[in-house]
Amino acid sequence: MPRAEHPVSRDHISDNALKVLYRLHNSGYQAYLVGGCVRDVILGKEPKDFDVTTNATPEQIKGLFRNCRLIGRRFRLAHIVFGREVIEVATFRGHHETTTTDKESKLSKQSDHGQLLRDNVFGTIEEDAQRRDFTINAMYYNIADFSISDFAGGMQAIKDKKIALIGDPDTRYREDPVRMLRAVRFAAKLNMQISHESAEPIKRMAPLMANIPPARLFEEVLKLFLSGQGLETYKLLTEYHLFESLFPQLAPLLLQSNSRECRFVEQVLTNTDNRINTGQRVTPAFIFAAFMWYPLEERCQQLMSEGGLNHFDAFNLALNDVLTRQLQRIMIPKRFTIPIRDIWQLQNRLPKRYGRRAYQMLEHPKFRAAYDFLLLRGQIEGGQLLELAEWWTDFQEANEAQRKTMLKNLRDQEGVAPRRPRRQRKKPKSST
Ligand code: ATP
Ligand code: MG
Repeated sequence: MPRAEHPVSRDHISDNALKVLYRLHNSGYQAYLVGGCVRDVILGKEPKDFDVTTNATPEQIKGLFRNCRLIGRRFRLAHIVFGREVIEVATFRGHHETTTTDKESKLSKQSDHGQLLRDNVFGTIEEDAQRRDFTINAMYYNIADFSISDFAGGMQAIKDKKIALIGDPDTRYREDPVRMLRAVRFAAKLNMQISHESAEPIKRMAPLMANIPPARLFEEVLKLFLSGQGLETYKLLTEYHLFESLFPQLAPLLLQSNSRECRFVEQVLTNTDNRINTGQRVTPAFIFAAFMWYPLEERCQQLMSEGGLNHFDAFNLALNDVLTRQLQRIMIPKRFTIPIRDIWQLQNRLPKRYGRRAYQMLEHPKFRAAYDFLLLRGQIEGGQLLELAEWWTDFQEANEAQRKTMLKNLRDQEGVAPRRPRRQRKKPKSST
């Protein structure tokens, strides 16, 4: 497709991506933009990142760029680093010979379930196109003449709003089960339909997700829920039985639609989508904390009733149990598990407002997240939780004199029934 027949112009491409393309081209290599960036520009969206593909090997790429890092074992590629922007440069991938010797080879490796464990066989651009996931992701923009090569009918698929795998769906999902998540993600993000052939195997093959290492799933899960279409993505994941492979502790609590658990999860995702779509900050810790909250409460109640533990001990034990089990599916980095724990722990501290505690709470670095979390719980459950959340809303907005009055009123109420909150905490239904 020559330049005159497609909408991708150099104005849409980041300067750094252009630099990389031109350096490769001027050194005698082929250089193309490929994948999501080409797809998104054609769709009139701004690409998140730019991926380049070339016939230069990783070593040859490294020879051309001082700011180059070679990464990945399963899939070796080069990162060209420009401050905060990273341009990913991959060498064309080729076909895998499925002989037994090759199964053990250094370049290519396949598991007994047909999953590709290593993909470092290099090839031609045509072969590279066949190794890509969906037809809309296999369009190549050539820096030599600004043409686009559309090897799998991606243009037509964009017109038809179809997400379709390249090749035989069973084989392609088996090679890499993450493609099932990606099918759902693109359907939600691009407002497209998964083709019948590519949709049909998903429910059946969803259990293969268990073979994906937790480290790989973290980034994928962020893209699922932090791209502005989290609610829609969640609904599709549930429909295709993929959600349970990511959050096995939460999924059983969501079987009854319109339960408080369902409403909570949907509200969290609605709020997150709104924040993202209006340019506000979101932290992955909040979503993870929310997705594990009811499993945590349930485990806590169980430890209290069966193990005879007090609430404080049961909560801390449950917190570690639930987090440990989740980390077996998704490797959430420490920089997020620490705030997740904070948000949870603060749910127990927010009811205790006497004396200087209310002021200390406002100073806590995670107060804002914990308060938002409490407000959400309050909106779902109502009652005392909502009252507590509204008290904190008022306290933040109040001036010094008003705050003093609020705290005095609280003391006076406590004076009437000093130990009430404690006793109430032991009731199974109460969450404060
Ligand atoms: P976005 O960046 O908007 O999430 P994307 O399509 O660019 O979407 P990336 O993960 O950046 O997704 O991957 C870049 C390209 O690499 C894809 O467009 C696709 O061609 C190819 N690709 C990525 N993951 C896979 C996979 N699991 N199997 C086959 N090809 C893949
Ligand atoms: Mg991309």
